[in-house]
Amino acid sequence: MGEEEKQEFAERLVAWQIRFGRHGLPWMTEDPYRRWLSEVMLQQTQVSVVVEYFERFLKVFPSVQALSAASEEDVMRLWAGLGYYSRARNLHACAKRVVAEHAGAFPRSVEQLERLPGIGRSTAGAIASFCFQIPAPILDGNVRRVFARLVCLPEPVDSAKAVKMLWAMAEECVSRREPGIYNQALMDLGAMVCTRSSPHCERCPVRSFCKAHEQGQTDRYPVPKVKKPLPLIERSMILYRVGDRVLLVHREGKGVWRGLWSLPEADEIPPNAQMVGEFSHRFTHYALHARVFSVPVGRRTAPEIPDGRWVSRQEMQTEAIPTPVRRFLLPLG
Ligand code: SF4
Repeated sequence: MGEEEKQEFAERLVAWQIRFGRHGLPWMTEDPYRRWLSEVMLQQTQVSVVVEYFERFLKVFPSVQALSAASEEDVMRLWAGLGYYSRARNLHACAKRVVAEHAGAFPRSVEQLERLPGIGRSTAGAIASFCFQIPAPILDGNVRRVFARLVCLPEPVDSAKAVKMLWAMAEECVSRREPGIYNQALMDLGAMVCTRSSPHCERCPVRSFCKAHEQGQTDRYPVPKVKKPLPLIERSMILYRVGDRVLLVHREGKGVWRGLWSLPEADEIPPNAQMVGEFSHRFTHYALHARVFSVPVGRRTAPEIPDGRWVSRQEMQTEAIPTPVRRFLLPLG
């Protein structure tokens, strides 16, 4: 695009956002703490789910100082159910760094923001543009899809080559005058108009720039990526239950469930155990298949497990338990 075209492209998006975009979401302020919190929550979760979590989080941790002073367990508990728990751990680590290294104020440059735990280039761009009016680009999943259609990108959007091209494009097109509204417009366009399936091109403010629309091939872009089968990890978990209480253990170490409460695992199944169910879960880099074995115990014969704790059915609703484990446990009644 030439200079004039780029300007026209940005202006159309900005005008469209003001009239038709999303407004009034609780994080839509220039407060970097709120923007950062919402950006991290929105990384893998839908807006409607995030609103509730966001408000609950803010009530307990109204400032980055309050969050940095919290225990990891309290942060995990409030995050419970949102999944992708590394986000919560990074959130906590980031709050501590902002307080310790930046006197509690988020830094005002993309480079410094990117050095904080859990803040990638796109999140840094969002905070910088929304809160400090810096013309920094963003490139979340929605924006990748929009750009891929605009230029009929021949590569899957996650390939290294595509990511490089898309960042260059995002950098070139970002509005110098209204970077915050422009970035919000791109997010809104991806969420409301240029949707994954059947985009509503008739309502699109940048339709005249779009190659996929011009060629009648919006369904061909983004090009799907070839999915490699994920390595499968098999686990055996033990269910000790007394009344409505279940024995859970606090996960230590480096695994994805570190800091959460889960069922104890066993390499060897006790002889009196009986299989009571199984569940599967896909993580980013592997798939988990768990078989769950019940071992009969009474109040007096319950095992002593280090870092173990008996959790009632009611506590399961709010405790930091991995979502697939909670989904397995709750229907047990
Ligand atoms: Fe997406 Fe259609 Fe707009 Fe192209 S014209 S960007 S496919 S909504």
